[in-house]
Amino acid sequence: MSEGSFLHELTGSMSQGAAGNPTVAMVEAAFAHHGLHWRYVNMEVTPEDLGDAVRGARALGFRGFNCSLPHKVAVIPHLDGLGESAALMGAVNCVVRRDGKLIGENTDGKGFLKSLETAIDPKGKSVVLFGAGGAARAIAVELGLAGVKKFTIVNRSEARGSSLAALLRDKLNLDAELVVWKGSYRVPPGTDIVINGTSIGLYDPDACLDLDLESLKPGMVVADVVFNPVRTRFLEDASARGCVALDGLGMLVNQGIVGVHYWTGLVPDAEVMRRALESAMGV
Ligand code: NDP
Repeated sequence: MSEGSFLHELTGSMSQGAAGNPTVAMVEAAFAHHGLHWRYVNMEVTPEDLGDAVRGARALGFRGFNCSLPHKVAVIPHLDGLGESAALMGAVNCVVRRDGKLIGENTDGKGFLKSLETAIDPKGKSVVLFGAGGAARAIAVELGLAGVKKFTIVNRSEARGSSLAALLRDKLNLDAELVVWKGSYRVPPGTDIVINGTSIGLYDPDACLDLDLESLKPGMVVADVVFNPVRTRFLEDASARGCVALDGLGMLVNQGIVGVHYWTGLVPDAEVMRRALESAMGV
């Protein structure tokens, strides 16, 4: 079968527990708004079936797909190549068909960067990043590629934190140090950007980061990866201290924008996508 024998161009998402994924509403709203007869379908794929699923997507002419946990690393051997940041991170959340080859990209960090750039140019800036898991790694690598001057990684587990700091130093030649997070953390003077890259606050509007709020200064840009609730306690506290607050929905919408752009070549309408996402999430 050739691609032309399909009524719709197909993209999709391979995840576990995929039911009710608001990304579907966001991506399909973009396709509809731009008059594309494309579909984005959600498929639950078990780890044992991942290889077959990718071969299926390839055979069926999919233009690409997203993949979420637990497939972000395991998908790599099934692909034909990796984009720069995905290769550095060793994790893929977006696959794009380019010249018949399936190329793995990571749009999480790119989405975060686009959202951040609405408030500040990260080039030459000092960043404090809480967390060293998948989201934090994606953000750190992308901000490193965008020219951040100094990273302080603050993480509870030393092993994960030191692995991320070493990645930034060894592969990107950056000034990066780890602070193992024990007790209330004070953001150093001169910090430009403070990011919560942990899952603290997810589904819990009262959860706080163990952080000395007095050390957040007016004008600092403070961003959260958590998008539910949209206004986390961390962002509320930072806004009250005069910081510029960026929510996790901005990152989510922008990683969707990057994905749709990779698949279709279009620059999709951000407002349309954010509205669809908010409506699907009921926020
Ligand atoms: P991971 O499980 O890979 O990493 C979780 C991180 O949070 C680790 O650094 C972990 O520290 C830290 N952490 C969790 N609980 C605590 C705690 N109680 N105290 C201190 N540190 C804690 O998760 P992900 O990186 O994949 O996801 C993190 C968050 O990012 C999630 O809320 C997810 O929804 C969100 N996300 C948002 C996206 C967006 O587009 N807005 C995109 C992707 C993710 P340790 O290493 O010590 O365990």
